[in-house]
Amino acid sequence: MCVPAHADLHASACTDLRPTGVSAGPSRRRFLASAAAGAAVGIGGLTALRPAPAGAAKLSFTAAGGLVDLTHTITDTFPWYPAFSPAQRRTVYRVETNGFYAQQWEVWEHTGTHLEAPAHFLAGGRHVTDLGLDELVGLPIAVIDVAARAAQDPNTAVTVTDLAAYEKLYGRIPDGSAVLMHSAWAKRVPTPGAYQNVGTDGRLHFPGFDPEAVAWLLANRDVRGIGVDTLSLDLGRALEEFPVHVNWLGADRWGLENLANLDKVPPRGARLVAAPTPYQDGSAGQCRAFAIVA
Ligand SMILES: [Zn+2]
Repeated sequence: MCVPAHADLHASACTDLRPTGVSAGPSRRRFLASAAAGAAVGIGGLTALRPAPAGAAKLSFTAAGGLVDLTHTITDTFPWYPAFSPAQRRTVYRVETNGFYAQQWEVWEHTGTHLEAPAHFLAGGRHVTDLGLDELVGLPIAVIDVAARAAQDPNTAVTVTDLAAYEKLYGRIPDGSAVLMHSAWAKRVPTPGAYQNVGTDGRLHFPGFDPEAVAWLLANRDVRGIGVDTLSLDLGRALEEFPVHVNWLGADRWGLENLANLDKVPPRGARLVAAPTPYQDGSAGQCRAFAIVA
């Protein structure tokens, strides 16, 4: 993997961030060869494979300050949006009885930490498979922190005022960036009811983007994607109209939902990697999203 250290990822020069001590090419080929050999001598051959020595896969970046995983583990209790349903899984094969282990999952494209494509709300819009890696890798991150307000008011939103306050402190939101809402809602994930937060009115109540903030970004800044640490780009209570989804995805942009660990990402200066699973005609796809912190 070759990612420029700090500056423009579209520049040709780049620094190799491959973990030190890990060779580039042949490891997968070697594994396949080993697997083939194992098959040739029976499944018992596979059990002879040993884990890599401890430390061999330890990341040692020479050009970045560190990595922050923005991804929640997908579980069969991960909080789901009411239009969907919880993930289901079953163990189909076991090493003890089948020689190998595999689960079968049934998940929505929108389960867990995922990236949604324009086609989610735009007929004829691009699917996850149509998004280029240059739209998903190395984007400057602007974190808008509304956690203090969210602790008091679950219906708080990222507003135009928040964006202006951010720029006053940290400078103009960079071109080609991702604007991510940190509301500290992620800590509720282990308790699905608290994360969904259904009120006595039957609606969900959690933070999201204000439609006017999204309209302002579309009109005034070159932002590639927005993201939230909640179940929806829209406010939870916006159950019928989804104005943020309609306008943002409708403008051929992408969105990230159910992000984790945004409290560990600086307001500016980090870079985002968030590439969705390329489901055929996917409206969204789960992704391992992470921030490279300079
Ligand atoms: Zn979604």
